[in-house]
Amino acid sequence: LNRYDMSLDGGDGGGITEAFKADSFDKKINLGVGAYRDDQGKPYVLPSVRKAEEKVIASRLNKEYAGITGVPEFTKAAAVLAYGKDSTALNRLAITQSISGTGALRIGGAFLARHFPGAKTIYIPTPSWANHAAVFKDSGLTVEKYSYYNKDTIGLDFEGMLADIKAAPEGSIFLFHACAHNPTGVDPTPEQWKQIEAAVKSRGHFSFFDMAYQGFASGNIDTDAFAVRYFVEQGHNVALAQSFAKNMGLYGERVGAFSLVCADAAEAKRVDSQVKILVRPMYSNPPIHGARIAAEILNSPELYGQWLGEVKGMADRIITMRALLKENLEKLGSKHDWSHITSQIGMFAYTGLTPEEMDKLAKEFSVYATRDGRISVAGITSENVGRLAESIFKVKG
Ligand code: PLP
Repeated sequence: LNRYDMSLDGGDGGGITEAFKADSFDKKINLGVGAYRDDQGKPYVLPSVRKAEEKVIASRLNKEYAGITGVPEFTKAAAVLAYGKDSTALNRLAITQSISGTGALRIGGAFLARHFPGAKTIYIPTPSWANHAAVFKDSGLTVEKYSYYNKDTIGLDFEGMLADIKAAPEGSIFLFHACAHNPTGVDPTPEQWKQIEAAVKSRGHFSFFDMAYQGFASGNIDTDAFAVRYFVEQGHNVALAQSFAKNMGLYGERVGAFSLVCADAAEAKRVDSQVKILVRPMYSNPPIHGARIAAEILNSPELYGQWLGEVKGMADRIITMRALLKENLEKLGSKHDWSHITSQIGMFAYTGLTPEEMDKLAKEFSVYATRDGRISVAGITSENVGRLAESIFKVKG
C-alpha cells in the first residue's frame, strides 16, 4: 500500500497528510492538500465569510428544515453567479442546493442515470478529479474516458480531445471541467472551447460542467464561467455542478448547487419535481448554515464586492507562487522548460515529475504531494518556495 497513492484520498491529501504528519523535519512541505492556504501556510477564512456569518447569527433565524431543494435565496443567487444575470437560462432552470460540488455531481449522475435517453455513458477527461469516476459509476452511469492531457507537452491534447468527442456515439454525455482543470491545471483557451462546442453540437452530445473553481482560477468570476455561458448561448441545455468550497473557502460547510438548463419554464418545473423525487430518499434536504452564509454574500452588494476582492486575492497569490517557483528553478540553472507552471491555472500544477521523482521528493526532501506529479500551489509560500525549487532541482535537474 503506497501512502502517497492519490486513490486513497480522492486526490485531496488524506494519505499524504498522514505521511507528512509522521515526518519530524521542521521544514517539511505539504503540497497534497486540496484547500487554499495563506502565505503563512494556514487555512484561510475569508473576512467576507466571517462578516456574513455574523449577520446570519445576528438575525437569529430558526433551524427548521429547508425545502428539498434548499435555501431559495442561495440557489437563485448561485444561478446568477454561474450563468450571468442576463442569461436566458435563468427562467428555464431547475436548480437544487447540494452537498457541495460532490453532491451536485452525484445528483446530476443519478438524474441522468434515471432520465437520460439512450446509452447512459459519461465521458470524463484523462486524467480527471480522482472522485469523478466513482461518483458517476455509483450513480449508475457507465464511465468512459476522453483524451485531455498530453504528457509530452505538459499541456492540452486538443486534437485527441476533439477526435474523441467526434468518435463517441451520438448523444453521449461529456463531463467538462469548467475552469482550473483538476489535477492538471490545463484549460482549453476560449478559442478551443468554441471548437469543442462545435464538435459537441455536431454529435448531439450532452454537456455536464463541473465548476468547482469559479473565480479561483483567473480571479474573475465571468472569465472562469466563459465555457458554461458560451455553451448555453450556443443552445446547449447543460447540466452544471457548482461548489462554494474553494471560492468562498466553505469546504466543510458543504455548499453547492446542481442545475439543469431546460427547454422552457414548464420543462424546468417537471425537472424540478423529478430532482425532488431523487433527493428526498438520498438525504431529505440539505444543511442550511453554509447556504445562508453564501446567500448573504451573494445578495448583499457590499459583501459581494468584498468577496470578489478576496477571491481575486487568493487567485493572485497562487499566480504569484507559480511565477516564483518557476523563477527560482531557472535561477538554480535548471535546463528544463518550466513554462507550464505559469501557463497552468488554478490551485494545482502538474509538474511533469514522475512517480519515482515524487517518491524521492518525499523521502529525501520532505516535500509531499501526489505521485502523479501534481502539486497544490496553494501550499507554496514566500518562505518555502526557495527550498521547494531546490528540492525539485536536485531531483529533476
Ligand atoms: N470537482 C472538482 C474538479 C474538484 O476538484 C473538487 C474538489 O476538489 C470537487 C468537484 C468537489 O469538491 P466539494 O465536494 O468539496 O465541493
